[in-house]
Amino acid sequence: MANTKELIKKEVEEHGVEFILLEFTDMLGYTKNVELPVEELNNILENEAMFDSSSIVGFSDIQESDMYLYPDLDTFKVLPSIVSEEPTARFICDIYKPDGTPFEGDPRYILKRAMQEAENMGYTINVGPEPEFFLFKLNEEGYPIRKMNDRGGYFDASPKDKGDSVRRDIVRTLKKFGFQMEASHHEVAQGQHEINFRFDDMLKTADNIQTFKSVVKDVATNHDYHATFMPKPISGENGSGMHAHLSLFQNGESAFYDETAEDGVSETMKQFMAGILKHANAIAAITNPSVNSYKRLVPGYEAPVSVAWSHSNRSCMIRVPNTRGLGTRFEVRNPDPSANPYLTLAVLIQAGLEGIRKGMDAGEAETRNLYEVEDDSVPTLPTNLKEAITALQKDELLMNALGEHTSCVFIKEKEAEWSEYSLQVSKWEMDKYMHN
Ligand code: GLN
Ligand code: MG
Ligand code: MG
Ligand code: MG
Repeated sequence: MANTKELIKKEVEEHGVEFILLEFTDMLGYTKNVELPVEELNNILENEAMFDSSSIVGFSDIQESDMYLYPDLDTFKVLPSIVSEEPTARFICDIYKPDGTPFEGDPRYILKRAMQEAENMGYTINVGPEPEFFLFKLNEEGYPIRKMNDRGGYFDASPKDKGDSVRRDIVRTLKKFGFQMEASHHEVAQGQHEINFRFDDMLKTADNIQTFKSVVKDVATNHDYHATFMPKPISGENGSGMHAHLSLFQNGESAFYDETAEDGVSETMKQFMAGILKHANAIAAITNPSVNSYKRLVPGYEAPVSVAWSHSNRSCMIRVPNTRGLGTRFEVRNPDPSANPYLTLAVLIQAGLEGIRKGMDAGEAETRNLYEVEDDSVPTLPTNLKEAITALQKDELLMNALGEHTSCVFIKEKEAEWSEYSLQVSKWEMDKYMHN
């Protein structure tokens, strides 16, 4: 049931809410918020909460710096006490300009535009994400140190797994946010964990990813750990991915399932995958947006390196799990949890829809272990951020999917990040070349 202003006011009163947090996401994917006292609730609900956007990454390069936060009523939640001891509620907001039109650089708006495109073609899309993370220990001052919280591995049980009570608190807290929780387990690397929640539509899932990340960080802090969604914190160990399972529906039926096809997969699904594969290198700039992201996308760590699809092969960018019927879907494996979830889903949909519009061909499923294929018969994902940014610049569809404002500012920001990185001299270089 959709939330109404009246229901919200009632809930605010019942819980004795004192503070209202207005949340949104910047271009880089960080959650930002501003807190207002409950006396401002009426103004908030009338879309009158103004803020100065000039210091927000990705929002600043435009003429007007005064922007408005329009609360999405369906995202209203009274925060669980584990997240906030004070009685506080939150809204996730859309960003509007003073003239009452949406701000074109708001990642949520960019995703909504992509969803509208799908709707115009008669489709709705569900997505189930799998964000992985690491828990690190803290020093006496509360800063993270390079020591993981345990030495466990995949599905290890307590006491090797020392993350079980943290994960339980995360699950409990997310349930209070209305999440439908699924499995939770130790991941492959030491100190690495995964908690799954149920798929939903694109917008809810992107919002959920942001809530998930905040809750994981808050709860980890309560347990004296630091949670990180950095893609590859430890060299020589698995990195953290954020696989995304996508399914497409038309008139309530799966558009990805075809019971007459030998593998049960429809042409529409193959075309959708083909669109994503065609734009893979540009997509990587959004789904793998940091210098560190490309240290994860290397052979041997269950992360993809090849721009190909397969039924079971984890070295491919896209894998098709066995489920058929309504659950027919594919898993995009390259995204990592440092990506902006709104932009990630927007570019995946726009590329997939183009695949359908143009009837693209995904080719045959890849059956080889591509980690071991040494020829160049299969294209590979970019090997660094610079390559991905260059691919994005040349990709008209993706540039349009992001819109003029965000594509320009994103590329500028990421080029600066790459230049900054290129000027660093690392410990590895000192050790390797010091005796030259
Ligand atoms: N951590 C792996 C990655 O980087 C995924 C491992 C898994 O979930 N099987 O994508
Ligand atoms: Mg998983
Ligand atoms: Mg996993
Ligand atoms: Mg997976």
